[in-house]
Amino acid sequence: MQYDTDAIIVGGGFAGMTTARELTQRGIRATVVEARGRLGGRTWTRDTTLGRELDMGGTWVHWIQPHVWAEITRYGLGLIASPELDTAYWRSGGEVHTGTADTMLDLLDASMTEVLAEARRALPQPYDYFPLSDQIKALDQVSVAEKIAALDLEPQQRALLDGMWALNFSGDPARSGYTQALRWCALSGGDWKLMFEACATYKFASGTRSLLDAIAADATADIRLNTTVTSIDETDDGVTVTCGDGTQVRGKRVVVTAPLNILNSIDITPSLGHGVNGVAAEGQASGGVKVWVRVKGDVGKFAALADSDAVLNFAQYEYPLDGDSLIVAFGPRSGLIDLNDPRAVETELRKWRPDLEVVTVDAHDWTADPLSGETWPMLAPNQLDAVAHAARDTTRRIRLAGSDYARGWAGFIDGAIESGLHTARQIITEFESEN
Ligand SMILES: Cc1cc2nc3c(=O)[nH]c(=O)nc-3n(C[C@H](O)[C@H](O)[C@H](O)COP(=O)(O)OP(=O)(O)OC[C@H]3O[C@@H](n4cnc5c(N)ncnc54)[C@H](O)[C@@H]3O)c2cc1C
Repeated sequence: MQYDTDAIIVGGGFAGMTTARELTQRGIRATVVEARGRLGGRTWTRDTTLGRELDMGGTWVHWIQPHVWAEITRYGLGLIASPELDTAYWRSGGEVHTGTADTMLDLLDASMTEVLAEARRALPQPYDYFPLSDQIKALDQVSVAEKIAALDLEPQQRALLDGMWALNFSGDPARSGYTQALRWCALSGGDWKLMFEACATYKFASGTRSLLDAIAADATADIRLNTTVTSIDETDDGVTVTCGDGTQVRGKRVVVTAPLNILNSIDITPSLGHGVNGVAAEGQASGGVKVWVRVKGDVGKFAALADSDAVLNFAQYEYPLDGDSLIVAFGPRSGLIDLNDPRAVETELRKWRPDLEVVTVDAHDWTADPLSGETWPMLAPNQLDAVAHAARDTTRRIRLAGSDYARGWAGFIDGAIESGLHTARQIITEFESEN
């Protein structure tokens, strides 16, 4: 085969750009083919109708996430903290309860600790669980909802616990794989409050784009935006990637970073093994929404939580802006609310606080977006084995990379970087031994 490049990378999110940087810095030619008109994938720092730049997708990072933290150090990027919240509102049984943020976390503490009690025992080395032991296989059959149902809880505790896991999975706890919850907690040293802090406390001072731009600037790859890969053919001597515009790129390897829920939109020959196409068809667990809301006046630094039946089940104060307040809210199911309708969002927020007056809203529906089909990737029960297996298959010229396939912080920017690093390292080693 006549190669146009050494490695073709499908997708220019964090996984794709990390792979591109690592390969090109070692003198390996890389071509990134990205369907969108921008890099960043499920991270997107952009101007909004709210009156400032905001992150539509991935936002928070933490020093217990080693891969993203190393990048923050490498590029000298600054972080800012989300505000410390003083008041909390939570709904259960049709009633709104209020107290300090600590009161709400204390109410969650015992049940959350019980749900996650097995984390460190089950995953003593949370990056190292493959091949799955019989114990992990058994745990992977269980959903978070089943685990919650088995606990003896007061209604308020149950609603809070269910709501917190719907938030964590950006989806329905009934479809949320228990091993994924255990992995988050094991990675946080078994401390669920630290796990929660890692998910929603520290963010990039200049937006998530600042890190993506830094990585991209160090990648000397050929980058083709607005180009959708439609099919990939693997032969004994190479791979041919065909794009929607009819162009073809031939290389020695192809790294596919398309999110799992849309993996089947690319026609791959021979088809991928290990049951990963079946998992993609079934869909992983996340399918929620994130929406930014400008609310009139200073409404105080509050958090709000409700169970997984709520359209929006979590909200958190984030910024002051010209006398108004900016709030970020999440819901576990896309399609239930028009994220661009201020009145619809106001109706949901008023279920906690009838005093809130929404000025404007802005969001990107990642679940409805055909180039993502999900928010942050979280596996459903019985999916871990197939996904972990496919992610580690180095017998093919086609490699799967991305946050969906990460060993550790899957679902996070950290996981996308980790997966990009692993994939690039493997390809570098193979090319070194081939030359
Ligand atoms: C609403 C939301 C909130 C989040 N919050 C956080 C957070 O606070 N902290 C955190 O760490 N993480 C968060 N995440 C998760 C994090 O953003 C992702 O895990 C990470 O960015 C995924 O990177 P990736 O490179 O694996 O995939 P992606 O970013 O999805 O990149 C894949 C790329 O492939 C492209 N693509 C797809 N199909 C094709 C095709 N056929 N041809 C060419 N290109 C294609 C896509 O356009 C995309 O650019 C959040 C995600 C969302 C959606």
